[in-house]
Amino acid sequence: MLNLSYYMPVKLFYGADCIKQNACYFQSLGRKCLIVTGKNSAKVSGALDDVLQVLEKHQIDFIIFDEIKQNPLLSDCVRAGKIAQSEQVDFVIGIGGGSPLDAAKAVSVFASNEMEPLKIFEGNYVNRPLPLILVGTTAGTGSEVTPYSVLNVDIGEDKVARKRSVQNLYAAASFGDYQYTRSLNQSITIATALDTLSHCIESYFSKKSNTISEGFAKQGAKLVIDVFRDLNGEFTDKQRQKLYAASIYGGLAIAKTGTCYCHSMGYFLTEDYQVAHGIACAVFLPSFLRLGCELDTKKADELLFELDDNLSNLCDMIENLTQYRPIYLTQTQKNELCERWKKDNKFASSPGNFTVADAMELIDEIFGV
Ligand code: NAP
Ligand code: ZN
Repeated sequence: MLNLSYYMPVKLFYGADCIKQNACYFQSLGRKCLIVTGKNSAKVSGALDDVLQVLEKHQIDFIIFDEIKQNPLLSDCVRAGKIAQSEQVDFVIGIGGGSPLDAAKAVSVFASNEMEPLKIFEGNYVNRPLPLILVGTTAGTGSEVTPYSVLNVDIGEDKVARKRSVQNLYAAASFGDYQYTRSLNQSITIATALDTLSHCIESYFSKKSNTISEGFAKQGAKLVIDVFRDLNGEFTDKQRQKLYAASIYGGLAIAKTGTCYCHSMGYFLTEDYQVAHGIACAVFLPSFLRLGCELDTKKADELLFELDDNLSNLCDMIENLTQYRPIYLTQTQKNELCERWKKDNKFASSPGNFTVADAMELIDEIFGV
């Protein structure tokens, strides 16, 4: 029987100039807002100008918090939440790539709750988060439509800020205009597109997938692979449109399934070696794709038909684009990873019975013993 359960509460405005065309939506959320963003992305992409025009037109007051870093820190979200409280804003707008968007999700919680920061990961807060609008400027995470906020925890005992996810924070509305991705350089565009591809492939083979999420995942993967296959120098406008659409499809897919072991394993490369998120996940993607195809040949046939390619070509393409540098892991580091991955539920949703021992074998295979 078909499994068709699916939940998506985000109102998605999509397409060129969608902010200008749906300006009145902002009015419905209140008279004053906090804009949460990074140092440059909102400005160089043109998204901030478009948002400010709309706010001014509708006489909505605003404050800008532009201190969100890549792989956002929990402490910055707490700080921005306090500003939102003291300024008594009605809603929050996140502008940027996955980092500012995820941060804005957390800020919307801290803005309406006096709470112990770590409780956010348990969904343990009393008041509803403030209404949230997201405006994406990268084609990668799909955070616009996912319920996840991935934060680096720099409060508490951990010496290195480790990534943890809040699981249930949807925006009220998201604006997806690929034109904001034109200012992304080649390497960030490739890294973020690889993130989208990881979302699609991990979700497609996830044990939590269903007919609906698999449809989104296949659509997204097809768009990314089409772009990578034809890539010849700079990304064209048409290719950027496809990548942005793919990132939304990937987000719609992981909103149902979450991600699998490529993401869990990729996190340490970002935290300890500053590898861009999309590249870090894609390091483990060829092995994941091979495993998924080996364990479910029917699903594999359907995916490869859609992508119009064979497994070995696809793995080569991903490896060439990823270009990871070898790293040497000490036994102590490996032991720490084992302890961490024992508690990781992304392993359980990966295809087969992927264990921590399998993960360590994969680490040795990829990085050398
Ligand atoms: P990002 O960390 O948001 O941004 C990467 C870099 O690109 C930053 O320097 C940023 O500048 C810049 N940038 C962003 N948009 C730009 C534009 N249009 N033009 C020029 N520069 C631009 O990258 P991301 O890959 O989108 O997000 C990664 C984060 O998302 C990670 O923390 C990851 O764990 C998380 N993630 C979340 C989900 C989810 O479902 N919520 C899914 C996957 C990953 P600024 O510094 O100015 O911002
Ligand atoms: Zn990701």
